[in-house]
Amino acid sequence: MKIHEYQGKEILKRFGVPVPRGIPCFSVEDAVKAAESLGGPVWVVKAQIHAGGRGKGGGVKLARSIDEVRQLSSEILGMQLVTHQTGSQGQKVRRLLIEEGADIATELYVGIVVDRGTQRVTVMASSEGGMDIEEVAASTPEKIHKVAVDPVQGLLDGEADELARLIGVPEASIPQARSVLQGLYKAFWDTDASLAEINPLIITGKGDVVALDAKLNFDSNALYRHADIVEMRDLDEEDPAEIEASKFDLAYIQLDGNIGCLVNGAGLAMATMDTIKLFGGEPANFLDVGGGATTEKVTEAFKIMLRNPNLKAILVNIFGGIMRCDVIAEGVIAASKAVGLKVPLVVRMKGTNEEIGRKMLAESGLPIISADTMGEAARKVVAATKQA
Ligand code: ADP
Ligand code: MG
Repeated sequence: MKIHEYQGKEILKRFGVPVPRGIPCFSVEDAVKAAESLGGPVWVVKAQIHAGGRGKGGGVKLARSIDEVRQLSSEILGMQLVTHQTGSQGQKVRRLLIEEGADIATELYVGIVVDRGTQRVTVMASSEGGMDIEEVAASTPEKIHKVAVDPVQGLLDGEADELARLIGVPEASIPQARSVLQGLYKAFWDTDASLAEINPLIITGKGDVVALDAKLNFDSNALYRHADIVEMRDLDEEDPAEIEASKFDLAYIQLDGNIGCLVNGAGLAMATMDTIKLFGGEPANFLDVGGGATTEKVTEAFKIMLRNPNLKAILVNIFGGIMRCDVIAEGVIAASKAVGLKVPLVVRMKGTNEEIGRKMLAESGLPIISADTMGEAARKVVAATKQA
């Protein structure tokens, strides 16, 4: 789950990371009031969307008067902000952060992720803050310094200090940088984050270390123990199909291809997508209906897949273990009728009661293409997209 910058900053503040004073706003009037209460002489009007690159896209602007705050807020609020992370259609700006302008001497980068290679939480830092860190990683990877943190000891003073020195933090600011790095690490750890990033982390003219941006993503599987974070969820920023799916406890991720996949079990879903690709097709989604796929769930899954305008065919691949194939067949038939299925449907079922299930599909009167192996199913569904 993602949150907005201003929410990320609230969390960082709790962990002792200094952030500029700022106020989130939903209207131009609020923005003006916020600027007045913060006091000048310089403010920054910042679009709040769940994507980075806002600065380059025109969503972060400096204001030198209250009138300018009003002007910029009315321009940014409601705009369709396009950044390298939003795709070409952009994301509508519904919230702003009005923040005091900081006196930037240096822009640095710090970020924390789980490195699956070392199986450690890894702190990354670079002197090249403010710009595209992806670009730095690609062209000058030696400018990104990393520490794989021991989970028992946490980020040690010496490790934090060394990172700070490597990215050029002046000696007088090292204690503050250490506290920021350790605060960020603790925030990452305690909130079950999957990403915690400050870009830029700045050194001010006076030598203070301040987080000018904040990006936190959380592990959805751990949200049950963070009610306060769940409250920060902003559904306006999420894919409507994925929200709909989560209501029915379906794990759904929209992708760029045209073959809808309905599968039970995440591993089988991944293998199904791989097989489709192997046969020259492109999956339109990842969809795991889970162990207890009821007729209702299968129907909802069909509806969600069919909202995708790119969809050309559907592949249902079910392993009947606890779930019986006849129950799945019933669900598939009911769902196909309920949604008035117009795209070709290939079904492959294996396991308990598969013969009964297959017979039901064959006798349903629906134009369902049956397949025995995964290879056959993938080949047939790829062929179906080419005919459609
Ligand atoms: P994004 O990463 O989405 O582009 P940032 O919050 O990093 O958004 O802002 C982009 C740039 O705007 C920063 O690199 C910094 O130079 C400038 N900036 C952001 N907030 C402030 C602030 N409070 N004071 C001064 N400059 C700021
Ligand atoms: Mg940034």
